[in-house]
Amino acid sequence: MINLQNLLDDAKCYDELRQLRWPEGVLCPHCEASLITKQGHDTTQPARQKYRCGAGLRYFDDLTGTVLAGHHQPLKTWILCLYFMGLNLSNAQIAEELGLNPNDAQRMTEQLRTGIVERQPEPVLSGEVECDEVYAIAGHKGHPGPVQRKRRRGRRRRLKGARGRGTLATEKPPILGMIQRGGAVVIRMLENVQQKTIRPLIETFIAPGTRVHTDEYVIYCRLTEWGYEHKTVCHSRGESARDEDGDGFHEIQVNTMEGFWSLLRSWLRPHRGISQEKLPLYLGFFQFVHNTRSRGKGLLTPLLALLVS
Ligand SMILES: [Zn+2]
Repeated sequence: MINLQNLLDDAKCYDELRQLRWPEGVLCPHCEASLITKQGHDTTQPARQKYRCGAGLRYFDDLTGTVLAGHHQPLKTWILCLYFMGLNLSNAQIAEELGLNPNDAQRMTEQLRTGIVERQPEPVLSGEVECDEVYAIAGHKGHPGPVQRKRRRGRRRRLKGARGRGTLATEKPPILGMIQRGGAVVIRMLENVQQKTIRPLIETFIAPGTRVHTDEYVIYCRLTEWGYEHKTVCHSRGESARDEDGDGFHEIQVNTMEGFWSLLRSWLRPHRGISQEKLPLYLGFFQFVHNTRSRGKGLLTPLLALLVS
């Protein structure tokens, strides 16, 4: 684990970064050659080592090819920013902690969030998987709201003609969640809640033949047709789990997904003003946080390793 004291020292930040980026020794980011010569240091950031590749004769440095390259802030500021993001501080809090202009802090967190979301490995779920959806309230220029629990009552009947409900257009973007019990989660903001919208996501992220648990919402009714073993639970009868074979165990449930939604709700709470445009970045970031199964300062190493990988 990265020692926090080291984050206050730019030279040590570079040491940590090189360790994570090149555990087996420096490799050329252009051709992966290992025949590298050191070429002095950056003129403005003295801890930033420059190199030349012996194979392609190209120059690079510690940050070349990462999202941390090409910025005027020192590396320690970026890494502290990432550390605070792992602690789930808001952009405003990060600006204050680091003594940055709020716009700069916002740009930095957005860039780091984007880097994490673009680089994170996308899991393929199998075994016992639960699918469920919730609705966020997110406008276009920062009139956000908490992630809302859907209103189940009377919904099944009106769904067919319910295109206007829970769509981007109504500023209540739906979020689809897929979680493997005891495993990874995938969450995505949706344009709308229609079968044709969720089908490609389900087919991308859930291995064929997997047993998928959902409630009785009509968007999930073709799962068997799509090649899955489909189990449903009926929320409207006040039944969160059903004991089908009478052995006292309630096999059919979407409780794992429900639990995840409350974690997501708490995670998003400090970030007031997330717009629809930014919501996918926050969702993707939390997906990574959840899937790495670490919290607090333990998150910094996986976050930084992903950004420089
Ligand atoms: Zn090279």
